[in-house]
Amino acid sequence: MAGQDDKFKKLVAHCKEYGFIFQSSEVYDGLSAVYDYGPYGVELKNNLKSYWWKSMVQMHENIVGIDAAIFMHPKTWKASGHVDAFNDPLVDNKDSKKRYRADVLVENYLDKIEAKINKEVAKAKKRFGDSFDEAMFRKTNPRVVANLEKHETIAKRLANAMRDSDMPGMKTLIEELEIACPESGSKNWTDVRQFNLMFSTQLGNIAGEEGKLYLRPETAQGIFVNFLNVQKTSRQKLPFGIAQIGKAFRNEIVARQFIFRMREFEQMEMQFFIRPGDEMKWYEYWKAARMKWHNAIGHPAEKLRFHDHDNLAHYANAAVDIQFDFPFGFKELEGIHSRTDFDLSSHQELSGRKIQYFDPELDKNYVPYVVETSIGCDRMFLATMSHALQEETVPDAKGKDSVRTVLKVHPALAPVKCAVLPLLRNKEELTEKARKVYNNIKHSFNCQYDEKDAIGRRYRRQDAIGTPYCITIDFDTLEDDTVTIRDRDTLKQERIPIGQVEDIVRNKVDMKQLFLED
Ligand code: ATP
Repeated sequence: MAGQDDKFKKLVAHCKEYGFIFQSSEVYDGLSAVYDYGPYGVELKNNLKSYWWKSMVQMHENIVGIDAAIFMHPKTWKASGHVDAFNDPLVDNKDSKKRYRADVLVENYLDKIEAKINKEVAKAKKRFGDSFDEAMFRKTNPRVVANLEKHETIAKRLANAMRDSDMPGMKTLIEELEIACPESGSKNWTDVRQFNLMFSTQLGNIAGEEGKLYLRPETAQGIFVNFLNVQKTSRQKLPFGIAQIGKAFRNEIVARQFIFRMREFEQMEMQFFIRPGDEMKWYEYWKAARMKWHNAIGHPAEKLRFHDHDNLAHYANAAVDIQFDFPFGFKELEGIHSRTDFDLSSHQELSGRKIQYFDPELDKNYVPYVVETSIGCDRMFLATMSHALQEETVPDAKGKDSVRTVLKVHPALAPVKCAVLPLLRNKEELTEKARKVYNNIKHSFNCQYDEKDAIGRRYRRQDAIGTPYCITIDFDTLEDDTVTIRDRDTLKQERIPIGQVEDIVRNKVDMKQLFLED
């Protein structure tokens, strides 16, 4: 775990040092769980958004996009269930005065049991070598069996308490398990109470409850209330989807782990409208499609897994998370939910307007069912960075081993696609030529001109921000109009004619590569 913690700390430090992510309002000592994206961060984030948008909207004839406002009529959140049910169970430790999510305290306890089981399995694996039968061991070893049973019982009690909003039950569970405050070690807890996660603000011209507005806690509702507008204007027939990327706000009780859990974040959501009864077919379809999307950018299969929900949200009849192996373990990256007709029906009821679809094949009106795919853009950013950021030993200019930090993101996602570097900064013929090359290709993709420091250091700087290609202009260039092109990953340098630079780089960094590779 120490290694993982260390890796995570390095990642956070790298994000700051190289201009990917800064703490919000840092000059005032920061605002907790709010972050700003820097010059390279914004490019990478925009590329991730563009990859998602293209794969949804551009690659599907039957998916269209919208960009709805953050503020919505307050009744929206009554209908969606957020006013009454978008709560987390909160508990305070009376000694340390620290506030926790009660369910997370129990989940952490469960993680510890799981770690014990895994340790036991690893030990046995080492002892028995090739002849080890893990499934059999898990079924027969008394310590493992007892821990598995304990895990299952606690997980069930937690799920039931969450489902029934049973806060006294939650408190009893914490007490029975003798969970102590990680800060103070004290077991002196307050009662557990529900805490609504929505931020609210006030309309300028209306006082009191009437003028209360919420900052949207999910982008999905902007899609639901626009269902008829979009369906009619885009002349879509079922099944069809509406996609949206936008900010969402949640007053998270415990917001840690960098950009994993923020109070202001961005979601990429797609609601797919279908015939009632078809939901399991489409649910399976989107599960597979979304996993393929993650694999296409080079995230290995073993870093991704499905995790079925133990505890379904009020609107869902099936739900699964795609979890990613973050530096702090497997956690939710994306949710795929079969939301039934819950949202459209609720809006229909509360607004008094008919929100239905006329199905010409069935010759009848109905409220469509919905399968949703919902991914946090910032979590996608963290997953991408944590997988791509690597340290490796490579030969330096003199052939000696040296350690480099390299961000091996897919070229289509890289913040800067190509750096143009004159070999020496004080030779005007070289810098002039390099500027010319840069000016010729900057229209096609994001390039950088850099003449400061020795060439080796400039290469390292580009490695650290993930630039897939470096073009170097040297004295041979002046003779024969060729340059070297250096590949970030293989470190190979090839001589190519200047005229080919643009095509070679463009082809490699084109987002279509991601669709061809999958
Ligand atoms: P969690 O269980 O981690 O709180 P959730 O199940 O509440 O997440 P959803 O409501 O399904 O999350 O939201 C969809 C996606 O939005 C999540 O998969 C995640 O990627 C992202 N997301 C949710 N909350 C946050 C947050 N506070 N900060 C960053 N991303 C978030």
